[in-house]
Amino acid sequence: MRKRVAILGSTGSVGLQALDVIRQHPDRFELVALSANRSAKALRGQAEELRPTHVALESEDASALDGLDGVEVLAGPGSSAALAGLPGVDVVLNGIVGFAGLAATVEALEAGNDVALANKESLIVGGEWVKGLPGADRIVPVDSEHSAIFQCLEGRREGEVSALLLTASGGPFFEWPEENLRAVGPEDALRHPTWSMGPKITIDSATMMNKGMEVIEAHHLFGTPYEKIRVVVHRQSIVHGGVFFEDGAVVLHAAKPDMRLPIAYGLLYPDRVDVGAEPVPLDGVSWTFAEPRNDVFRCLPLAVEAGKEGGAYPVALNAANEVAVEALLEGRIQFLRIAEIVEEVLEAVPDLGHMKSMEAITNADAWARAEATSRAEANAR
Ligand code: MG
Repeated sequence: MRKRVAILGSTGSVGLQALDVIRQHPDRFELVALSANRSAKALRGQAEELRPTHVALESEDASALDGLDGVEVLAGPGSSAALAGLPGVDVVLNGIVGFAGLAATVEALEAGNDVALANKESLIVGGEWVKGLPGADRIVPVDSEHSAIFQCLEGRREGEVSALLLTASGGPFFEWPEENLRAVGPEDALRHPTWSMGPKITIDSATMMNKGMEVIEAHHLFGTPYEKIRVVVHRQSIVHGGVFFEDGAVVLHAAKPDMRLPIAYGLLYPDRVDVGAEPVPLDGVSWTFAEPRNDVFRCLPLAVEAGKEGGAYPVALNAANEVAVEALLEGRIQFLRIAEIVEEVLEAVPDLGHMKSMEAITNADAWARAEATSRAEANAR
């Protein structure tokens, strides 16, 4: 039986790799829908090649999609989320980047569609809301670390698990003395040692914010208390995650860093297919594990604190970080200032109520963005 899939964010890094998996296994997939943010031409090319029944473009100008035969075209903000709720879809791959992905996750779950989740914000800013929706247990994570943990947990009873393990590459500066970090510019921070990813997530890896957000993601996905989620730095990026069991055993998941593996697993769960990933090297290699440097890379402990606080705190964390990373990429602030801006914004969070609606989350997000922007600007002057 072929799985009927919708790929949201199909022109982004995760989306492109998902389409590779689908091309490799035409016997396993029926592509129903594609969506993109602004890359209309690329989306058109994908639609002409792969012939979905629906495409969606978030941008209003969809003229590049005119005249696509036999394809229903949706355009404008919210059109990706509309595709997430299409009837008859077996699994929605949410590869949308940023906050916009939350609406698609909610829409898919409410329509009864399974979700292969690559959009982190759905759980970081919307975790308390999304986890309360019926069908939230139909989310299969596509983030590599969470896919690893998900696979290690399969077939296990809850009572057997004592803690979760998330690995971090440590980013390009893990071994650097703190004083050298003051001079780091965007070019340095964009050099990731083991994964090739978009600029935002590469900076988030260098600051360890990515790992902090992944702790929040893991907390919501697996219902694990923050105290029982352990982060270790593993420079080789071969072990992606693991589970500590009651008897002292740790089950680890290892694979070459290749996003097609968690994508294919998320799309075809519980089946596995060969996506052409290279084998794990076992000949004379060393795997190392080390404690994170939380005193220098402050974003990880800040994210864990924000997660524990809950409510508006993770929303503010995400928004402040996005503003600060953009300021770094534009050369307006220094590397270490990212964590400072995030911390200052977290310290100023007022009572913004619960975060269980789009409106509440949007308000908290806007508050934190304004707060972070004024701090980044003060810094640039
Ligand atoms: Mg990850």
